[in-house]
Amino acid sequence: MQTGRDAPKVGALAEIAKVASTCTLCRLANGRTNVVFGMGNPAADLMFVGEGPGEQEDRQGLPFVGRSGQLLDRLVLEEMGLTRQDFYIANTVKCRPPGNRDPLPDEIEACSPYLEKQLELVNPRVVVTLGNFATKLLLATTDGISRLRGRAYPYRGGQLVPTFHPAAALRGGGQVVAQMRADLVRAKEILGAARSGRAQKS
Ligand code: SF4
Repeated sequence: MQTGRDAPKVGALAEIAKVASTCTLCRLANGRTNVVFGMGNPAADLMFVGEGPGEQEDRQGLPFVGRSGQLLDRLVLEEMGLTRQDFYIANTVKCRPPGNRDPLPDEIEACSPYLEKQLELVNPRVVVTLGNFATKLLLATTDGISRLRGRAYPYRGGQLVPTFHPAAALRGGGQVVAQMRADLVRAKEILGAARSGRAQKS
Protein backbone atom coordinates (compact mmCIF):
# COMPACT_ATOMS: atom_id res chain seq x y z
CA MET A 1 0.00 0.00 0.00
CA GLN A 2 1.28 3.47 -0.90
CA THR A 3 1.41 6.11 1.82
CA GLY A 4 2.44 9.77 2.00
CA ARG A 5 5.93 8.58 2.94
CA ASP A 6 6.27 7.13 -0.55
CA ALA A 7 5.77 10.49 -2.29
CA PRO A 8 9.53 11.19 -2.72
CA LYS A 9 10.12 7.80 -4.35
CA VAL A 10 7.07 8.24 -6.58
CA GLY A 11 8.40 11.66 -7.60
CA ALA A 12 11.90 10.33 -8.23
CA LEU A 13 10.57 7.49 -10.39
CA ALA A 14 8.45 9.97 -12.37
CA GLU A 15 11.53 12.16 -12.93
CA ILE A 16 13.55 9.22 -14.27
CA ALA A 17 10.63 8.10 -16.44
CA LYS A 18 10.56 11.60 -17.91
CA VAL A 19 14.26 11.44 -18.75
CA ALA A 20 13.83 7.97 -20.27
CA SER A 21 10.89 9.12 -22.40
CA THR A 22 13.25 11.04 -24.69
CA CYS A 23 16.27 8.74 -24.30
CA THR A 24 18.43 8.10 -27.36
CA LEU A 25 21.28 6.28 -25.62
CA CYS A 26 21.00 3.24 -27.87
CA ARG A 27 19.73 2.27 -31.34
CA LEU A 28 16.41 0.96 -29.93
CA ALA A 29 15.29 4.60 -29.79
CA ASN A 30 14.99 4.55 -33.59
CA GLY A 31 12.12 2.10 -33.90
CA ARG A 32 10.07 2.69 -30.78
CA THR A 33 6.61 4.21 -30.52
CA ASN A 34 6.80 4.65 -26.74
CA VAL A 35 9.41 4.16 -24.08
CA VAL A 36 8.01 1.54 -21.69
CA PHE A 37 9.46 2.58 -18.37
CA GLY A 38 7.55 0.50 -15.82
CA MET A 39 4.33 0.44 -13.84
CA GLY A 40 2.78 -0.66 -10.60
CA ASN A 41 3.18 0.08 -6.95
CA PRO A 42 6.48 1.87 -6.24
CA ALA A 43 6.12 1.00 -2.55
CA ALA A 44 5.79 -2.72 -3.26
CA ASP A 45 8.06 -5.31 -1.70
CA LEU A 46 7.87 -7.39 -4.89
CA MET A 47 9.24 -6.40 -8.29
CA PHE A 48 9.20 -8.29 -11.59
CA VAL A 49 11.85 -7.64 -14.21
CA GLY A 50 11.25 -8.79 -17.77
CA GLU A 51 13.13 -8.51 -21.04
CA GLY A 52 11.83 -5.71 -23.27
CA PRO A 53 8.60 -4.34 -24.70
CA GLY A 54 6.75 -6.23 -27.42
CA GLU A 55 4.38 -4.82 -29.99
CA GLN A 56 1.45 -4.15 -27.65
CA GLU A 57 3.70 -2.70 -24.96
CA ASP A 58 5.40 -0.40 -27.47
CA ARG A 59 1.99 0.77 -28.71
CA GLN A 60 0.53 1.38 -25.24
CA GLY A 61 3.68 2.46 -23.39
CA LEU A 62 2.99 -0.08 -20.64
CA PRO A 63 4.84 -3.28 -19.71
CA PHE A 64 3.33 -6.76 -20.07
CA VAL A 65 0.00 -5.82 -21.62
CA GLY A 66 0.03 -8.41 -24.44
CA ARG A 67 -0.59 -12.17 -24.27
CA SER A 68 2.53 -12.78 -22.18
CA GLY A 69 1.43 -10.16 -19.68
CA GLN A 70 -2.05 -11.65 -19.46
CA LEU A 71 -0.56 -15.05 -18.67
CA LEU A 72 1.77 -13.52 -16.09
CA ASP A 73 -1.11 -11.66 -14.42
CA ARG A 74 -3.14 -14.87 -14.26
CA LEU A 75 -0.31 -16.95 -12.79
CA VAL A 76 0.60 -14.26 -10.25
CA LEU A 77 -3.02 -13.97 -9.17
CA GLU A 78 -3.50 -17.73 -8.93
CA GLU A 79 -0.22 -18.56 -7.19
CA MET A 80 0.44 -15.41 -5.17
CA GLY A 81 -2.99 -13.81 -4.86
CA LEU A 82 -1.58 -10.52 -6.12
CA THR A 83 -2.58 -8.00 -8.80
CA ARG A 84 -0.74 -5.14 -10.51
CA GLN A 85 -1.49 -2.84 -7.56
CA ASP A 86 0.61 -5.13 -5.39
CA PHE A 87 3.91 -5.11 -7.30
CA TYR A 88 6.12 -3.06 -9.56
CA ILE A 89 7.08 -4.33 -13.00
CA ALA A 90 9.69 -3.16 -15.49
CA ASN A 91 11.90 -4.46 -18.26
CA THR A 92 15.63 -4.79 -18.88
CA VAL A 93 15.41 -2.56 -21.96
CA LYS A 94 12.75 0.12 -22.14
CA CYS A 95 12.34 0.29 -25.94
CA ARG A 96 11.10 -2.45 -28.25
CA PRO A 97 13.79 -4.36 -30.16
CA PRO A 98 12.75 -4.43 -33.84
CA GLY A 99 10.74 -7.51 -34.77
CA ASN A 100 10.94 -8.63 -31.12
CA ARG A 101 14.55 -9.73 -31.56
CA ASP A 102 16.69 -10.26 -28.46
CA PRO A 103 18.20 -7.11 -26.97
CA LEU A 104 21.92 -6.81 -27.73
CA PRO A 105 24.56 -6.58 -25.01
CA ASP A 106 25.33 -2.90 -25.69
CA GLU A 107 21.61 -2.03 -25.60
CA ILE A 108 21.21 -3.80 -22.25
CA GLU A 109 24.24 -1.99 -20.91
CA ALA A 110 23.04 1.41 -22.14
CA CYS A 111 19.63 0.92 -20.56
CA SER A 112 20.73 -0.69 -17.29
CA PRO A 113 21.06 2.58 -15.29
CA TYR A 114 17.28 3.06 -15.57
CA LEU A 115 16.61 -0.39 -14.16
CA GLU A 116 19.26 0.13 -11.53
CA LYS A 117 17.48 3.31 -10.37
CA GLN A 118 14.10 1.56 -10.35
CA LEU A 119 15.50 -1.25 -8.19
CA GLU A 120 17.14 1.27 -5.88
CA LEU A 121 13.98 3.36 -5.45
CA VAL A 122 11.40 0.57 -5.21
CA ASN A 123 13.82 -1.39 -3.02
CA PRO A 124 11.79 -4.62 -3.11
CA ARG A 125 12.35 -7.53 -0.72
CA VAL A 126 11.87 -9.99 -3.57
CA VAL A 127 12.79 -9.56 -7.23
CA VAL A 128 11.41 -12.08 -9.73
CA THR A 129 13.34 -12.09 -12.98
CA LEU A 130 11.46 -13.26 -16.04
CA GLY A 131 13.69 -15.04 -18.52
CA ASN A 132 17.32 -15.08 -19.49
CA PHE A 133 18.11 -11.42 -20.01
CA ALA A 134 16.91 -10.02 -16.69
CA THR A 135 18.29 -12.99 -14.76
CA LYS A 136 21.73 -12.86 -16.35
CA LEU A 137 21.95 -9.10 -15.90
CA LEU A 138 20.92 -8.98 -12.26
CA LEU A 139 22.84 -12.08 -11.17
CA ALA A 140 25.84 -11.10 -13.32
CA THR A 141 26.10 -14.58 -14.75
CA THR A 142 26.24 -16.24 -18.15
CA ASP A 143 24.25 -19.28 -17.00
CA GLY A 144 20.85 -19.75 -18.62
CA ILE A 145 17.45 -19.59 -16.97
CA SER A 146 16.83 -23.36 -17.08
CA ARG A 147 19.92 -23.85 -14.96
CA LEU A 148 19.32 -20.89 -12.64
CA ARG A 149 15.64 -21.31 -11.82
CA GLY A 150 14.41 -23.58 -9.05
CA ARG A 151 16.01 -21.67 -6.18
CA ALA A 152 16.40 -18.18 -4.75
CA TYR A 153 19.55 -16.07 -4.64
CA PRO A 154 20.59 -13.38 -2.14
CA TYR A 155 20.13 -10.03 -3.82
CA ARG A 156 20.47 -6.46 -2.47
CA GLY A 157 19.62 -7.51 1.07
CA GLY A 158 16.61 -9.49 -0.17
CA GLN A 159 16.12 -12.42 -2.52
CA LEU A 160 15.97 -12.90 -6.26
CA VAL A 161 13.80 -15.66 -7.71
CA PRO A 162 14.48 -16.42 -11.37
CA THR A 163 11.75 -17.88 -13.55
CA PHE A 164 10.88 -18.23 -17.21
CA HIS A 165 9.60 -15.36 -19.29
CA PRO A 166 5.85 -15.84 -19.79
CA ALA A 167 6.44 -15.77 -23.57
CA ALA A 168 8.48 -18.97 -23.08
CA ALA A 169 5.60 -20.42 -21.10
CA LEU A 170 3.21 -19.59 -23.96
CA ARG A 171 5.53 -21.41 -26.36
CA GLY A 172 6.60 -24.20 -24.04
CA GLY A 173 3.23 -25.28 -22.70
CA GLY A 174 2.31 -27.17 -19.54
CA GLN A 175 5.70 -28.07 -18.16
CA VAL A 176 7.09 -24.54 -18.39
CA VAL A 177 3.89 -23.13 -16.88
CA ALA A 178 4.14 -25.63 -14.02
CA GLN A 179 7.74 -24.57 -13.36
CA MET A 180 6.71 -20.90 -13.43
CA ARG A 181 3.97 -21.65 -10.93
CA ALA A 182 6.47 -23.36 -8.62
CA ASP A 183 8.81 -20.35 -8.86
CA LEU A 184 5.98 -17.95 -8.04
CA VAL A 185 5.04 -20.04 -5.00
CA ARG A 186 8.70 -19.85 -3.93
CA ALA A 187 8.62 -16.05 -4.29
CA LYS A 188 5.39 -15.89 -2.28
CA GLU A 189 6.89 -17.94 0.56
CA ILE A 190 9.99 -15.74 0.71
CA LEU A 191 7.83 -12.63 0.67
CA GLY A 192 5.67 -14.05 3.46
CA ALA A 193 8.74 -14.84 5.57
CA ALA A 194 10.16 -11.33 4.98
CA ARG A 195 6.85 -9.71 5.91
CA SER A 196 6.43 -11.74 9.08
CA GLY A 197 10.06 -11.03 10.05
CA ARG A 198 9.40 -7.33 9.62
CA ALA A 199 6.16 -7.54 11.60
CA GLN A 200 7.96 -9.29 14.48
CA LYS A 201 10.62 -6.57 14.62
CA SER A 202 8.08 -3.71 14.68
S1 SF4 B 1 16.38 1.02 -24.75
FE1 SF4 B 1 16.95 2.22 -22.95
S2 SF4 B 1 18.96 3.10 -23.43
FE2 SF4 B 1 18.03 2.44 -25.37
S3 SF4 B 1 17.00 4.28 -26.14
FE3 SF4 B 1 15.48 3.08 -24.98
S4 SF4 B 1 15.51 3.96 -22.90
FE4 SF4 B 1 17.40 4.64 -23.96
